[in-house]
Amino acid sequence: MYGADAVFVGGKEFSLRSQASNFSLEDIQEGVRFAKQYGAHIHVTCNIILHQDNLEGLKEYLKQLDEIGVTAIIVADPYIMKIAKDMHLNLEVHVSTQLSTLNSRAISFYQNMGMDRVVLGREVTYEDLKMIMDKVDVDIEYFIHGAMCIHYSGRCMLSNYLSRRDANRGGCSQSCRWYYDLYQDGILINQENDMPFSMSSKDMALVHHIGELIELGVDSFKIEGRMKSVHYIATVVSTYRKLIDAYCEDPDYFMQNDYYENELLKAANRALCHGFFYDHPTENEQLFNLRDEHPTQEFVMRIVDYDEETHLAKIEQRNYFKIGDQIEVFLRIMKIFSLPLKNFIMKTRKR
Ligand code: SF4
Repeated sequence: MYGADAVFVGGKEFSLRSQASNFSLEDIQEGVRFAKQYGAHIHVTCNIILHQDNLEGLKEYLKQLDEIGVTAIIVADPYIMKIAKDMHLNLEVHVSTQLSTLNSRAISFYQNMGMDRVVLGREVTYEDLKMIMDKVDVDIEYFIHGAMCIHYSGRCMLSNYLSRRDANRGGCSQSCRWYYDLYQDGILINQENDMPFSMSSKDMALVHHIGELIELGVDSFKIEGRMKSVHYIATVVSTYRKLIDAYCEDPDYFMQNDYYENELLKAANRALCHGFFYDHPTENEQLFNLRDEHPTQEFVMRIVDYDEETHLAKIEQRNYFKIGDQIEVFLRIMKIFSLPLKNFIMKTRKR
């Protein structure tokens, strides 16, 4: 609804997101129908690293995804790559970012295996991307926004070690973002009253570089939005949609300004950085201690219905608000506008 060309979702099986409330096949089918109304596609992540006991039911699952109209599967295990192609389905097969593909020869390898798209690792710098785009001839997807792993994507055992939840099988407990005591030569160096230590990273936002990436010929931009609120997703997706459309409409006269970043900050719940775009991140891209970033706005309500005759809106309240607050209304079909909340009539629903 807010401008994405495709949405990637995790199914209940074979997905890395087993902890999220994932989509059943029926949910995915409903998603495909919904996306089609907006000319959009559904991609399904099948990107676990298969253990022996994960093999059963795989072929049947891929067949079902194909039948219900899913456009692509996103995979990490070579066996899934192979059988998805051997089965001659309509499904495109995309190489997951979990494989940390960072160079043109690896991409050519996947291309020779018949893969339709490679989602690059978040660790590809702009300079490397330039060389890659020059050398390869397969669809390339590049991350432009979202959370970063502090370890190379998909190569982290921290969660497995500390909480016995397997990050490579969908169970990451985000252990990098916990707070830790820090020792040097056996001596605790963040004392009780100091800030706790964390290994968390700022979120990536390439809002100022979209034009350069379009010029390189990147085929698809990826926004990470796992387990984020509807407000976050709608804000981030619509901001990049507007930015991409504005750039493509008139690249020569496109004016990059702070408007787009300010829009993102309305929903951002972590500080933003450029990830690996310029080079390897420095200490400035990390969040070593207490996170105190907040979105510049609160998501207070979702309008679920509006009666033209009575002028009454049915809302779902998401946060505290009061008379006198300035409310910004963010709708898919209209420009954003704001108004002061002068009064409201509240009718509670009868049980
Ligand atoms: S613990 Fe952190 S670095 Fe490791 S997989 Fe999870 S989010 Fe990524």
